[in-house]
Amino acid sequence: KIQKALAPPYTLENLTLDVSASVGAALFPQHGNDADTLLQRVDVAMYAAKQDKKDFVLYSEKLDQQSPRRLSLVSELREAIKNDELSLRYQPIINNLTQVVSEAEVRWRWEHKIHGTLNPDEFIPLAERSGLIYPLTQWVITNALRQQSAWRTLGLDLGMAVNISAQTLLDPEFVDQVTGLLAAHDVPPQQLILEITESSIMFDQELALHILTRFSDMGVRIAIDDFGTGYSSLSYLRKLPVTQLKIDKSFVLDMLENENDAVIVNATIDLGHNLGLKVIAEGVENEDILKRLRQRGCDGMQGYHINYPLRSEDFLPWFYNAAHLGQRAVAAKGEIRSSI
Ligand code: C2E
Ligand code: CA
Ligand code: CA
Repeated sequence: KIQKALAPPYTLENLTLDVSASVGAALFPQHGNDADTLLQRVDVAMYAAKQDKKDFVLYSEKLDQQSPRRLSLVSELREAIKNDELSLRYQPIINNLTQVVSEAEVRWRWEHKIHGTLNPDEFIPLAERSGLIYPLTQWVITNALRQQSAWRTLGLDLGMAVNISAQTLLDPEFVDQVTGLLAAHDVPPQQLILEITESSIMFDQELALHILTRFSDMGVRIAIDDFGTGYSSLSYLRKLPVTQLKIDKSFVLDMLENENDAVIVNATIDLGHNLGLKVIAEGVENEDILKRLRQRGCDGMQGYHINYPLRSEDFLPWFYNAAHLGQRAVAAKGEIRSSI
């Protein structure tokens, strides 16, 4: 019934929205005798539904086998942040005009003693739900700015792009904290780029606009991440002090084979330029895509063809090698090697 009720498009201030829901359910008393247990199990079922892209999942004990692992990972992640056990990777973004790396997107990795390398993909939702996203982001920004500052003294002045969740962006302390970190590491605000998604700004539009304006007044750059995958209205986006759009890799990966994807990529480049924004394509996996994007006037490129997210110690040799020889580094499978 809930699914059916949500099925018709929903109209909000002249916008037509398609809303869908992943529903989890648990039964009393089979799955629990008290509200806490039932809610926890409903949650497990709902996450299983989201993960498997199903409309509805009924709780079963089998699903719960994942849950203790998740719970223990949350507390381990908390410790890992505190003990500096995460590490950062920097994925280069090439400027189309100058053909030089002008920015890097910062990603964190967690080398777990038992589970191996864990990527943000599986952790961000967990971190958001457990209140860990704020300290995590703070850790990421602190360390990225420290690295930026160290590279700057060596003559490499890169823009650092950091992914920011809605919760973090809308946190009342966030702007002041970032201001403090920029000053502490002596990094010009223009060299910090906050990557936010359309959905995160739609969450509380007025507050988002207020916060983004404060950042923009400082000089911090704002990128709309995963552009094209959300449902924000263009007239609202136009009001935001955004400096760049990032085309999601889901459109870029197959743009040479899939006409629809190509249309979206081209339209986004034109739209961005008409709004006075830079456009960056993510998911550039081969030379043909790179060439096509270049022809279309895309301003920045990022993807495995240029390089993987690199450890800081691998970034510098790759950068100088690539810059001096006009070549891209050769990326071996798994570990990254620079092509010196
Ligand atoms: P995103 O920001 O859209 O990042 C793109 C993801 O695609 C990254 O995965 C990246 O490693 C991968 N990627 C980059 N180039 C290519 C390519 O050429 N081909 C393919 N197939 N993939 C490519 P990652 O690092 O696992 O991050 C996944 C998502 O997690 C990110 O998507 C971002 O939304 C989120 N995320 C990552 N780090 C953070 C963070 O510190 N805070 C927050 N709030 N979210 C984060
Ligand atoms: Ca991003
Ligand atoms: Ca993306």
